[in-house]
Amino acid sequence: MIITLKSNSSPQQVAHLRSWLEGQNIGVHPIEGKFQTVIGLIGDTSKIDIECLENLEIVEKVIRITEPFKTANRKFHPEDTIVSVGEAKIGGPHFGLIAGPCSVESEEQILEIAKRVKASGATLLRGGAFKPRTSPYDFQGLEAQGLKLLSLAKKETGLPIVSELISINHLDLFADVDVIQVGARNMQNFDLLRELGRTHKPILLKRGLASTIKELLMSAEYILAGGNKNVILCERGIRTFETYTRNTLDISAVPVIQELSHLPIIIDPSHSCGVARYVKALSMAAAASGANGIIVEVHNDPAHALCDGAQSLTPAQFDDLASHVRRIVEVCHS
Ligand code: PEP
Ligand code: MN
Repeated sequence: MIITLKSNSSPQQVAHLRSWLEGQNIGVHPIEGKFQTVIGLIGDTSKIDIECLENLEIVEKVIRITEPFKTANRKFHPEDTIVSVGEAKIGGPHFGLIAGPCSVESEEQILEIAKRVKASGATLLRGGAFKPRTSPYDFQGLEAQGLKLLSLAKKETGLPIVSELISINHLDLFADVDVIQVGARNMQNFDLLRELGRTHKPILLKRGLASTIKELLMSAEYILAGGNKNVILCERGIRTFETYTRNTLDISAVPVIQELSHLPIIIDPSHSCGVARYVKALSMAAAASGANGIIVEVHNDPAHALCDGAQSLTPAQFDDLASHVRRIVEVCHS
């Protein structure tokens, strides 16, 4: 970190700042110019509140050299993290194809979808059991029963399962869930992230509706700092002024995150656009961008889905999508 001081700072003010910084075990290296003094800070500056420094009377500007996310940072971990889930792998050269309904609705529904998406090449099955709905009057998920049905689908097909956890009080119910999803609305539920850092299960961390890439990486840092290194990031569209789509897919998040971090980054084309007929194009764009996978909503009867039917593909549409995506992955990931 580099601090540029205002030209009128008095020696006493500079000495005071210096001893405050040294008191926090930070190496202080002043460079005195003709008109201005610049201070280089060496050591762990992650705990320093940049805004607090910037507000000091003698400080003109503060520049952070190293990003505040340490464990997620590619600088300190150059090789890609590959998350293993059963036989599936996500990250590096491994493309994860995750598919399934927004929410588990019945045994017949989840078993049929699971078998169909597996036949199309899905490597993991998704299905919400606890649904964070905008309206308290909407279907909230089958909860514990939904997880049991997902387990059944896993047993029948061998596909590992992904499901969203909305409260740490439910963690025991997730014993058979292979990947715990943290939804967009919980990306900054720091208590939840901290607790998940103590588990050893892979975590699928979705980007918040109005969160920056840095905020997403700082949230991943909460999980990693607790000792759980199996984090998969997910870009699921962000809020913009556009109204033709539910959200706006920020495809640039893929190269940006791959530069900044070693963690896998996947795309959720379904929540990104909210419209089934756009999902294939976004999935192909995701594969071409170098994303490490996609998570797609598939329903056997989208018109009657209890949640997110408008963005759900039929199994046949998913099959077509999967074959296109596979071809792009072959070309772009080799
Ligand atoms: C979901 O995956 O069904 C979901 C609710 O996603 P998000 O948290 O991205 O809105
Ligand atoms: Mn959904």
